[in-house]
Amino acid sequence: MTESKNNTDDATADPLAGAQFDTLAVRAGQVRTHEGEHGEPIFTTSSYVFDSAAQAAARFGGDEPGNVYSRYTNPTVRTFEQRIAAMEGAEAGVATASGMAAILSTCMALLSLGDHVVCSRSVFGTTTVLFTKYLEKFGVKVTHVNLADYEAWEAAIIPRTRLLFLETPSNPLCQVVDIERLSVISKANDCLLVVDNCLCTPALQKPLALGADIVIHSATKYIDGQGRCLGGAVVGSQETMTEVLAFIRTCGPTMSPFNAWVFLKGLETLRIRMMAHSESAMALAEWLDARPEVEKVFYAGLPDHDGHELAKKQQVAFGGVLSFRVKGGREQAWQVIDQTRILSVTANLGDAKTTIVHPATTTHGRLSPEDKIQAGITDNLIRIAVGLEDIEDIKLDLDRGLSQLGCSE
Ligand SMILES: *Cc1c(COP(=O)(O)O)cnc(C)c1O
Repeated sequence: MTESKNNTDDATADPLAGAQFDTLAVRAGQVRTHEGEHGEPIFTTSSYVFDSAAQAAARFGGDEPGNVYSRYTNPTVRTFEQRIAAMEGAEAGVATASGMAAILSTCMALLSLGDHVVCSRSVFGTTTVLFTKYLEKFGVKVTHVNLADYEAWEAAIIPRTRLLFLETPSNPLCQVVDIERLSVISKANDCLLVVDNCLCTPALQKPLALGADIVIHSATKYIDGQGRCLGGAVVGSQETMTEVLAFIRTCGPTMSPFNAWVFLKGLETLRIRMMAHSESAMALAEWLDARPEVEKVFYAGLPDHDGHELAKKQQVAFGGVLSFRVKGGREQAWQVIDQTRILSVTANLGDAKTTIVHPATTTHGRLSPEDKIQAGITDNLIRIAVGLEDIEDIKLDLDRGLSQLGCSE
């Protein structure tokens, strides 16, 4: 008896059923056309033709599955949706034009006038603006809580609370929250726990397996990994994703097929890249920690970081983003940034190219002085998203500015 590839005798069974993460990353969602192409094709078509008027009617009416129009479904985008869903361990996924479109579409699909959201204070700045400036305009109320204050999460929940929204680890201070513990609070109160998994990606953390209901991605970051395209994704239960897709079909924040193809290629190497980013970030964190010019390093990989034990349990590795405070203030921080010649001075992250930024005057510049202090965004803080260059060159690039600060032990 010959053993079939998938160890079952049923040739019609899904060959990827039970497949491991790396296999899903390379193969999930791919459907070959009659051309027999090896790679995933880019379907650059806005609409689709039907065999007959009756088929058109059945497709429009939803009685027959299949493509109608690319605002709604596109085969390349569909492959990306199925692959990211498989990698997160989700029933279904929906792709969007950007990470912000993923958050907006989730909120528009699931929230109504008078509903309430509890949101971590340590989320992407534009996410806070979306909740406060725009959703509040449509009668959705938002309460902000400190990420790791479990009592505050629980206390903030009211009868109309529908969503709990967070990122872990946080950017830039790498605070970590116990997803499993928050999911218990969320379920007990009939809320949906939404995790923006942008910094870890499913290669390092799987929020759904820890009890979260919905995972959000900015594919712009590590999923692309080389800073080319904007995109986003939402994954979760089939029921919830049907609602999110219905919003996207109507309102149009759709992912382009070309971007979906770039992200598919990104997913294939995602775990290998995330491990390399993490390894370099760890080495850099240890190096910075030993420098006399550095006051404090924030990276969950360091044993003295508040979130170290939890991150070790909840994540495969500690990720590519870290931050540190130099001795001094804004002037010293800017000096270290301005002395770099290789690193890119930009607020983006999740790129093969290492980026360096001064949060207090860029990503968090809009916060009031009090809010900055509360959030730990001091004037001497620098954030680095470690790329894939040789780590020794990154150290040398930082050494130039640090040495000039002239601190001794
Ligand atoms: C960048 C980012 C977003 C927004 O994604 P875009 O693709 O830029 O719209 C959302 N969440 C996090 C954590 C991000 O880093």
